[in-house]
Amino acid sequence: MTMKLFLYDTLSGEKLEFKPLNSGKVTMYLCGPTVYNYAHIGNARPAVVFDLLGRLLRQNYELVFARNITDIDDKINAAAIESNKSISEITEVYIEAYNTDMAAIGVKSPDIEPRATEHIGEMIIMIEKLIDAGNAYQAEGHVLFEVSTYSEYGSLSKRDLSEMMAGARVEVASYKKSAHDFILWKPSTPELPGWDSPWGRGRPGWHLECSAMIKKHLGTTIDIHAGGQDLVFPHHENEIAQSTCAHQGKTFSRYWLHNGFLSIDNTKMSKSLGNVSLVRDLLKDHSGEVIRLALLTAHYRQPLEWSSKTLVAAKKMLDRIYGALRDIRVSPQKIANTKVPTIILEALSNDLNTPMAMAEVFSLAKKLNKTLDNNEREDIAAQIYASGKILGLFEKDANEWFSQIAQCKYSEGEIENLIAQRDEARLIKDFNKADQIRDQLLDEGISIEDTSAGVRWHFDR
Ligand code: AMP
Ligand code: ZN
Repeated sequence: MTMKLFLYDTLSGEKLEFKPLNSGKVTMYLCGPTVYNYAHIGNARPAVVFDLLGRLLRQNYELVFARNITDIDDKINAAAIESNKSISEITEVYIEAYNTDMAAIGVKSPDIEPRATEHIGEMIIMIEKLIDAGNAYQAEGHVLFEVSTYSEYGSLSKRDLSEMMAGARVEVASYKKSAHDFILWKPSTPELPGWDSPWGRGRPGWHLECSAMIKKHLGTTIDIHAGGQDLVFPHHENEIAQSTCAHQGKTFSRYWLHNGFLSIDNTKMSKSLGNVSLVRDLLKDHSGEVIRLALLTAHYRQPLEWSSKTLVAAKKMLDRIYGALRDIRVSPQKIANTKVPTIILEALSNDLNTPMAMAEVFSLAKKLNKTLDNNEREDIAAQIYASGKILGLFEKDANEWFSQIAQCKYSEGEIENLIAQRDEARLIKDFNKADQIRDQLLDEGISIEDTSAGVRWHFDR
């Protein structure tokens, strides 16, 4: 018998037992990145949390997990214009960077990674359906979804449309019947990216992109739709309205999951506020595993206040667990044949209670430290490693965790010294020598980087 899984569903406002539409199979969609910049640690939170859910679901189900790439967006257009590049030149760089950064923090590639630019045809078909069904209208080259035609509008974000209407004092664009109507299609001026459509050359609205990609890859009704809390309104509310109306009222997603915000000084981390820490920069000084654990130390729906202490605490935790695992040899086969302890599975199956799961891993590590019997030690270590396969942690050999500096033929002092010699060589423009020292360090797995604050070095983990 498989363990019951409970997930908090934003739409019903309750923790529900998870039951997929088709037994044995699960479809899950996560709103992915808008690719005009590097991912910050807040963006990494949904990627890590729902990667963990994916790993858990795969224990019992055949999962199809799609995470899209939003590669049509006005912020991308602005970045392209600013840097005098085409949008694809911008997006290719950041798609690649996103995937590299997420892989470094243990996020497995989704099964499908659809891009908005490759689904324009599907978007146009969905708009046509909405116009035919009387849910959308055309005006001044735009197509808008008429919110008042969908009586359930507001149920995800618990907003009352009539109250919203009454409260609206904003100036309404001339092409809108109501301030709440949202864009399905908008015209593009010649310098902006655009595609031909029955309504002229233009581009889709963001909300529509996800609805069309979901329909194409996962079907009319999916099991789980996930994203950060900021997407509840308007993005997910609008996705529900479009998809439900385009599909004769069929349920769009059976469960809605949202992660809480990661914040700095109690303010949401966000590109627009400029208070971001990029995953890419954090990886220079911290291993991906430390970053991943730091993100999982709080329950995913709770706010996570981020500071340098968060990473220090995660590193300490990993040192303690790997410390207990040190010098125990466990074959990959044994790990594969070891069951994840019920108590850990129970914690994760209770709406992804990662703090509780980690506390149980700690108990195992403590037990390991106290046990002298080698067979028992091997069994407990195998349980920790097996749990790590779901958590996406402890994927290294414990000795390897501690051995990076020990294995390196240079001490820390010698590394600093070589870097100083390289600085000197650069100063006198002896670039051959400078490059040779850089290569010498690289041979030992040490990367160096020139920053405005001087040279920094780290092991490539
Ligand atoms: P974006 O690239 O801005 O569209 O965001 C990608 C994902 O990151 C979305 O699911 C957002 O909800 C999520 N996200 C953005 N900022 C934060 C934050 N500070 N904390 C948690 N999640 C966030
Ligand atoms: Zn979306």
